[in-house]
Amino acid sequence: MAEAAQSPAAEEVLMENQESSAAGTDSGTPGAAARDKPVCLIVLGMAGSGKTTFVQRLTAHLHSQKAPPYVINLDPAVHEVPFPANIDIRDTVNYKEVMKQYGLGPNGGIVTSLNLFATRFDQVMQFIEKKQQNHRYVLIDTPGQIEVFTWSASGTIITEALASSFPCVVIYVMDTSRSVNPVTFMSNMLYACSILYKTKLPFIVVMNKTDIIDHSFAVEWMQDFEVFQDALNQETSYVSNLTRSMSLVLDEFYTNLRVVGVSAVTGSGLDELFVQVEDAADEYEREYRPEYERLRKQLADAQSKKQQQQLERLRKDLGAVDMTNTPKTADIAGPSDLIMTRGNPDEEEEEEDSDTDDIDHSATEESKEADAFGNFLTERREVVQVRNKKCAVPDGP
Ligand code: GDP
Ligand code: MG
Repeated sequence: MAEAAQSPAAEEVLMENQESSAAGTDSGTPGAAARDKPVCLIVLGMAGSGKTTFVQRLTAHLHSQKAPPYVINLDPAVHEVPFPANIDIRDTVNYKEVMKQYGLGPNGGIVTSLNLFATRFDQVMQFIEKKQQNHRYVLIDTPGQIEVFTWSASGTIITEALASSFPCVVIYVMDTSRSVNPVTFMSNMLYACSILYKTKLPFIVVMNKTDIIDHSFAVEWMQDFEVFQDALNQETSYVSNLTRSMSLVLDEFYTNLRVVGVSAVTGSGLDELFVQVEDAADEYEREYRPEYERLRKQLADAQSKKQQQQLERLRKDLGAVDMTNTPKTADIAGPSDLIMTRGNPDEEEEEEDSDTDDIDHSATEESKEADAFGNFLTERREVVQVRNKKCAVPDGP
């Protein structure tokens, strides 16, 4: 792990900013008051769509409702966080140091910083769990470039950790003013669609910047295929043909999509947003959680079945030994023979041996991944050290 790339105070334990953890009393929405766990709003969107401004606006709004949210900044490269963050990735990982130490460019630095942070996310979960009675909402701002979170292992790790404990909703922020072009609009929608299918979490599309342009044109495009085709007919590029075909596919996606127009700058549309958030949180309880529990049970069942099979095989081997009694020759072949040559099966040692055979394969896979990441970091550091040595101008004699 990159020790120097992390601030010293964060080496032992990840830091939580205490001053902004004030207890909330009421959220202003009836559903929120009845819930015993906060809803996590994971804010995603293209660079410049207004995620950070949106989180800032939501934070201010909830403070004014006397329901301060628990806020987490996951963007290691942001200059200034314009809201009081309970947890700020920049307190744990210095992304410029990460770039320097591992010889990475800005994008690599951001991805690696988020990976380093994801390895500590169990601590973040503990912080949220400790404070869950005080907050109705947990807001999570993500790195500017959307793919850093949506196409990285760390984004998946963080999302799954949150969604396994709390009701989670994905808020997809889009820049309405830049989506007046039907091809740009379609790209945004395809991205939103891919995130929905990847996370399977309840989803809200926030059409931001409605102070510049009202989002009704986009809603009409989603509701009326003909109107969208008309808009596309103005386009002559080959992309418009692709977009035409794509829009047919997206019809299904639009049917059940929650869409809210907001302005992160003026704060308009937030009441409607919270109505949708409550609806999405209900959907999480109704659909996501049972499915999650089912998968978890399936996994546990599969593991216990595997253990059963292993036991069964072991029993068979022992049975085979019983059938043949002792081996006739010294040249032992099968596993049953091996068991017999190990000495007294009643001894403790035997049991310990079989324990080591009973490997938890999922844990092994995970630790392999962690090892691979560790190796990557070590290798990068070596490459940089070698490069620095080569570049260093030798001192005079
Ligand atoms: P991020 O990269 O998604 O976090 O985007 P930012 O929150 O940093 O916003 C990018 C730019 O969009 C900034 O200049 C913001 O001031 C601007 N912006 C964000 N939300 C709005 C909005 O609702 N209306 C207008 N007019 N500008 C906005
Ligand atoms: Mg941002």
